[in-house]
Amino acid sequence: MHDFVVVGAGSAGSLVAGRLAETGANVLVLEAGGRDTSMLIHMPAGFHKLLVHGRFLFPYETEPQSQLDGRARSLPVGKGLGGSSSLNAMCWVVGQPRDYDAWQAAAGSEAKWSFDDLLPHFRKIEANQLLDNEFHGNSGPVHVSFPPKINPLNAAVVRAFQEAGLPFNADYNGAQQRGVSLVQSNFFDARRYSSAVAFLHPVEKQPNVTVETGALVHRLLFEGDRVVGVEYSQRGQFRHAMADEVIVSAGALNSPRILMLSGVGPEEELRKFGIQVRHKSPDVGNHLQDHDGRR
Ligand SMILES: Cc1cc2nc3c(=O)[nH]c(=O)nc-3n(C[C@H](O)[C@H](O)[C@H](O)COP(=O)(O)OP(=O)(O)OC[C@H]3O[C@@H](n4cnc5c(N)ncnc54)[C@H](O)[C@@H]3O)c2cc1C
Repeated sequence: MHDFVVVGAGSAGSLVAGRLAETGANVLVLEAGGRDTSMLIHMPAGFHKLLVHGRFLFPYETEPQSQLDGRARSLPVGKGLGGSSSLNAMCWVVGQPRDYDAWQAAAGSEAKWSFDDLLPHFRKIEANQLLDNEFHGNSGPVHVSFPPKINPLNAAVVRAFQEAGLPFNADYNGAQQRGVSLVQSNFFDARRYSSAVAFLHPVEKQPNVTVETGALVHRLLFEGDRVVGVEYSQRGQFRHAMADEVIVSAGALNSPRILMLSGVGPEEELRKFGIQVRHKSPDVGNHLQDHDGRR
């Protein structure tokens, strides 16, 4: 019996597990993929190769897209400790205050999702190598740096945008996002700072933390209306893990998948696959928006 089971050790799961572990809680992390031992993960230049190595990815594809003349496109999703933070492009982009403020407005006054609420957390996780001001932290576990070298092509692109009328913005994670900028990246000294590196590995050896890899969670286990554990498979065997609380942090595609396999989702869709409906929730598995898909 655990205090917490964390499903998926990606960007969110590694952070949540790390923070819970610091409180002394007994935490079990179940991650479908493997350990993040490959040099390609930790060496920033390995990024492009990671995308062709199947073992670090769920090889998802979209449905045919009308906006793409009916073509489907690949939808890579990270698999393994660190999840997508172990294979993403490491661009450190905090986002626009008005997006967070819209979440706050949608979630209601009890929630703490506004930009002002979240900024202290952003500052807490960051160790920016250059900037030190109200928007940036300097002592967090995620090291963030500017490009160590600006090659002639980078410089030409930055100048070209300015010639086209876009202002130069020295810090798009500062007061204003708009403009052409040099990218800030969560790497430093030729090493990627994934969420697993920053939050999970530092606590992994603690006696209150267990990290299982190759552990694919299939569904949540219920007692009445309460989730009391998960069913997962590992090395060909089905297992149960019981906990006071289960945190589903398996990513934007796999979290709703687990919910739906557990009977939480749109009734019609669940019945179509013979899944017992536990909680009708028509929005689960719907409304996915990719960040560049908005108009
Ligand atoms: C190629 C690529 C490049 C990107 N570049 C950037 C970038 O430069 N900057 C940026 O900010 N964002 C970038 N992103 C997006 C960013 O990485 C993701 O938004 C973020 O990592 C999502 O975090 P998450 O915790 O929701 O999911 P993930 O980090 O994907 O973690 C989910 C974890 O759950 C595990 N899991 C899934 N299903 C199960 C299951 N059934 N049982 C157990 N475990 C399971 C997965 O293996 C994975 O480890 C990029 C993403 C990709 C794929």
